Amino acid sequence: MKYDVIIIGAGPGGIFSAYELLKKRPELKIAVFEAGNSLEKRKCPIDGKKVKSCIKCPTCAIMNGFGGAGAFSDGKYNITNDFGGSLYQYIGKEKALDLMKYVDEINMSHGGEGTKMYSTSGSEFKKICMQNKLNLLDASVRHLGTDINYVVLENLFAELKDKATFYFNTPIEKIEALEDGYRVFYGKESADSKKCIVSVGRSGSKWMETVCDDLGIPTRSNRVDLGVRVELPAVIFSHLTDKLYESKIVYRTEKFEDAVRTFCMNPNGIVVNENTNGIVTVNGHSFEDPARKTDNTNFALLVAKHFSEPFKDSNEYGESIARLSNMLGGGVIVQRFGDLERGRRSTEKRILEGTVVPTLDATPGDLSLVLPKRILDGIIEMLHALDKIAPGTANDDTLLYGVEVKFYNMEVELDNCLETTYKGLYVIGDGSGVTHSLSHASASGVYVADEILETL
Ligand SMILES: Cc1cc2nc3c(=O)[nH]c(=O)nc-3n(C[C@H](O)[C@H](O)[C@H](O)COP(=O)(O)OP(=O)(O)OC[C@H]3O[C@@H](n4cnc5c(N)ncnc54)[C@H](O)[C@@H]3O)c2cc1C
Repeated sequence: MKYDVIIIGAGPGGIFSAYELLKKRPELKIAVFEAGNSLEKRKCPIDGKKVKSCIKCPTCAIMNGFGGAGAFSDGKYNITNDFGGSLYQYIGKEKALDLMKYVDEINMSHGGEGTKMYSTSGSEFKKICMQNKLNLLDASVRHLGTDINYVVLENLFAELKDKATFYFNTPIEKIEALEDGYRVFYGKESADSKKCIVSVGRSGSKWMETVCDDLGIPTRSNRVDLGVRVELPAVIFSHLTDKLYESKIVYRTEKFEDAVRTFCMNPNGIVVNENTNGIVTVNGHSFEDPARKTDNTNFALLVAKHFSEPFKDSNEYGESIARLSNMLGGGVIVQRFGDLERGRRSTEKRILEGTVVPTLDATPGDLSLVLPKRILDGIIEMLHALDKIAPGTANDDTLLYGVEVKFYNMEVELDNCLETTYKGLYVIGDGSGVTHSLSHASASGVYVADEILETL
């Protein structure tokens, strides 16, 4: 089999590469290899009744398959260079924003029309935040919601399925450089192409490392973000979430001058389990459908941990901390803020007596046994800082779920075309370490497709 382009991974990066290539050159022969299932077959067996915890499926339905890690996400497309990745460092700020807007247009024409775009710039909250030592970052946020995000993916697949060849449940094991292209291996078979785009996301990060080792492509890795997911009554944050939906706020702690930031805010949403390589961490969702909204809002508070030589495996550090919470709680641990400050564990009784009804069935416990003191101190400080702009944030009954970990892929050495030291071999999306978000990953897909179209 010989293709013009082989795309490895059908997350946003891979999907938008395929979309752009086929939109501009429908005659191209494109193959997309995906380790997980097609969209409609992606079903996590955890139902809260028969299956309560992760049974370690061969590929995780939440992280793998058409739509990638973002398929069941809240579908927040942040159009900004302030966070979500460093794509702008490779392609320039203006180009990066233009591509993110272009991706938004595609989403709108594939089922997303009618969803709301929020913007933080020029809002009155910037001043209030500043007055309380908090920094509200600028961004436009398209909120698709988990339900509409799914519809957009369905429509994109409907458009692509007859134009590209999709191989589901087909993890690529190895990439070999040929004289005039690349050969990818799966099971006992292989396929060749002139160009190869690798877009394997966070779940493919370990595999990506082996590819880089095999081919001698330089990489570096030094960051992981650790913290908790906060859940509180939606009314406490409604003045912010009604206007901005998602507010990315950064606080510099007084004690250590560490930056603590809010991440992934889900107004009227739910807290969920997330499985990374068999380790259960916490995340959040929210739905556009009013029937699925809850009375709670959740968001993460994260502290970035950068490591210096000789330690290289920042993700392993994050995984070890998450494993600790899994060891103590059998999964995610939940604790009332009041219990944490009083230095005692939460119990089922204390959670039941609280005013915040948890949306995730987590094990009541003590997060101070899991998170390093410096990180926990930062989170406590930030909760009190947020309490000044959203009174009630630091209430005793506010729930903290742990741990939330944001893993960063090692950064692959790439040039300004996102091409490796091998001509025609591109690495995009979260798997490259360049992006950490839906909009940046998608934009990187479009960018590389356009680069390839110029050379093919
Ligand atoms: C629960 C959750 C909620 C999120 N919410 C948001 C949000 O609201 N906004 C936001 O901006 N970001 C969000 N994110 C992050 C966002 O989903 C990612 O940044 C984005 O999906 C990255 O896209 P990608 O294409 O680079 O990688 P991925 O989406 O991870 O896709 C990579 C694909 O490659 C496949 N793959 C891996 N290895 C191989 C292999 N060897 N062979 C073949 N296929 C392989 C995987 O199965 C996967 O489907 C969320 C993530 C999660 C987990």
